[in-house]
Amino acid sequence: NATPVSVLGLGLMGAALARAFLNAGHPTTVWNRSAGKADALAAEGAVRAATVAEAIDASDLIIVCVLDYPVVRALLEPVAGGLDGKTVVNLTSGTPDQARRMSTWAIEQGADYLDGGIMAIPQMIAQPEALILYSGSRRAYTDHESVLGVLATGRYVGTDAGRAALFDLAMLTAMYGQIAGYLQGVALVDAEGVTAAEITPLIVSWLNAMAATLPHDAEQIDRREYTTDVSSLDLNKAGLATLVQAYEDQGLPTDVLKPIQSLIERRVAAGHGTDSLAGLIELLRK
Ligand code: NDP
Repeated sequence: NATPVSVLGLGLMGAALARAFLNAGHPTTVWNRSAGKADALAAEGAVRAATVAEAIDASDLIIVCVLDYPVVRALLEPVAGGLDGKTVVNLTSGTPDQARRMSTWAIEQGADYLDGGIMAIPQMIAQPEALILYSGSRRAYTDHESVLGVLATGRYVGTDAGRAALFDLAMLTAMYGQIAGYLQGVALVDAEGVTAAEITPLIVSWLNAMAATLPHDAEQIDRREYTTDVSSLDLNKAGLATLVQAYEDQGLPTDVLKPIQSLIERRVAAGHGTDSLAGLIELLRK
């Protein structure tokens, strides 16, 4: 059914969200600080709101997707009186604490609040491969699950409004580790005249195979028990020394390798050389 939706923020992501609602047949009202970014959407059938207040008036479901939380605050605070009875779904990236504070504030204004973490790039929006994590008001999620479903596959992760951001940041952290390792690895073959195109399919298969072993690591981490029949930290210490040597032989930087090498060496020095790699979590967790 055609639930009216208002979208505040028409940057690369906000515009993709608004277009997805529009294409799915939802009456869509849009607002952006630089009004020109609403032109294309208006031509496709979106209603252009002249002010944030007008956008909030137009629909009970308000999607916010702007640069950061201070901007969300700056936009919503002046129109706080209009939020009573509305559902605010904030898809702006932020920290768990920022999400919790925003939730408290929105609830004080009489709104139902859902925070979201978008695990997708704008081009993936409206496709099932796109994932959006949601947390906060369970009622808001259940009531609007099908409307939100036009944006991406939705996953509700709990009533704590900070949880979507928490999961989002953990997933991004893992992604940065992957891209960092990938770039460092490509630099090694590049130094010997091998193209990224040649090595990349092999790296992709390797990373997929290694990713499949993470649930086993998860069990160890949750049990705090790090026996291994795969490879010990002692072995990995020797392995890292070999890796670093290969880079140094080429005169290449080792910025990405050094931190993991240092963690392994510290854990071995503390007497845990026979533990698995997953045991490094003990140096990283609280
Ligand atoms: P853009 O840089 O394309 O757009 C930023 C948006 O914020 C614009 O609508 C901009 O308005 C608005 N904005 C910035 N400052 C202000 C301000 N002071 N007052 C009012 N509006 C302001 O970013 P995206 O659309 O890509 O990202 C939006 C959110 O989505 C971010 O939190 C981002 O982290 C998140 N996200 C983005 C992803 C991506 O791949 N792009 C992936 C996952 C999450 P104006 O047009 O007037 O400058």
